Amino acid sequence: MFAEIITIGDEILVGQTLDTNSAWMGEKLNDLGVEVLQVRSIRDVDTAIIHALDSLDPRTGLVLVTGGLGPTKDDLTKYTLHQYFGGEWIRVPEAEDNVKRLFKALGREPQQVNLDQALLPTSCKPLINKMGTASGMWFDKNGVAVISMPGVPYEMKSLMNDYVLPWASEQLKDQNIIHHTLLTQGQGESIIAERISQIEDSLPTEISLAYLPSPGLVKLRLTGRGSNRSQLEAAVSQYATQIKDELKDILFGEKADRLEQLIGIQLKNNGATLSTAESCTGGYIASKITSVPGSSEYFLGSIVAYENSIKEKWLGVSPEIIAQKGAVSEEVVVAMAEGVASKMRTTYSIATSGIAGPEGGSAEKPVGTVWIAVHGPSGTWSQKFQFGSHRERNIKKSGLMALDILRKMLAK
Ligand code: AMP
Ligand code: MG
Repeated sequence: MFAEIITIGDEILVGQTLDTNSAWMGEKLNDLGVEVLQVRSIRDVDTAIIHALDSLDPRTGLVLVTGGLGPTKDDLTKYTLHQYFGGEWIRVPEAEDNVKRLFKALGREPQQVNLDQALLPTSCKPLINKMGTASGMWFDKNGVAVISMPGVPYEMKSLMNDYVLPWASEQLKDQNIIHHTLLTQGQGESIIAERISQIEDSLPTEISLAYLPSPGLVKLRLTGRGSNRSQLEAAVSQYATQIKDELKDILFGEKADRLEQLIGIQLKNNGATLSTAESCTGGYIASKITSVPGSSEYFLGSIVAYENSIKEKWLGVSPEIIAQKGAVSEEVVVAMAEGVASKMRTTYSIATSGIAGPEGGSAEKPVGTVWIAVHGPSGTWSQKFQFGSHRERNIKKSGLMALDILRKMLAK
């Protein structure tokens, strides 16, 4: 099955809103084995919407459209699709009840424009949106399913989960798709590719390998497609084992485990707790850790100690050390890690202090210099890293390194 994604909204084209909808939908469709042929972002203009529908790839069987369903005048998708697919306007009782229910939950009265969101063309099958007042609309264009959903990401996801993905999965029930993800850290994708080139060359046509690099780590994803599920599972798992054997030294997880999930499991198994004291990462590490559901079981808190006085007052770092060694130094980062662990009474702690850039470097401590300390029952481990000049990447790499050091400490 082939699909296309069309995201509608002027805000996307001027860079105000990042089109995360396409990324999410693309991932979900790919997981099911639906191939996305193209993603287009277009303006809130009727001619643009009509042109997009008139210029679909002939192979496309499913078109996912998001955006432009709000009650305000700038949102034209509903009117344009009515113009395109025809039909009468009708008030859909379930859609109206849904609008009333959502307003009642907020303790407010719906306005006429809100109630009019239940006016939908008879040419579509209405998709009731539990999370919002704009219904989705399912049209048929000569056998091609055209599905319009709101732009608000959690509303789109709710309609995808309630209607679109179950339908696509039913359509594809005889086609299996299996993913097996391996997580590596410490080597770039080209070195990894060289190390496993023989295995890669020997992959049968139904199994493919993708390299997914992000700052500090490379994910390897094996994907198998075929009709016999158990055969496919066995084959994918056999190649995964071969790759794991070859990359033992840099492999740290598999089956889509994120570093922060692995750490969470390790901490829980040890009955241990964690805190962070973050300077240059500004809370990024705490945010990663708390993105894991259930992290409150082991993560107690973080102090974002950006300014020296905060490092002194809240983490107990001595002003003399800061004056002598500078805030970006081994002594300070160690004191931060030990300070936060003692203040929050945690078994483990992570601290960072560095120059994320693009300004603030010196000859002695250029931009990208980052000290990381990880404290645990066996002591405090610290190391200096030299990352690049890109602020965002420096923050991400620092976070990944720090989490990986903790992972290794926990594994001992
Ligand atoms: P709309 O359905 O056009 O009223 O969109 C409502 C809001 O959803 C917009 O203001 C954006 O903040 C968000 N949004 C719209 N399209 C997207 C998209 N493709 N990706 C992420 N967010 C979006
Ligand atoms: Mg809009």
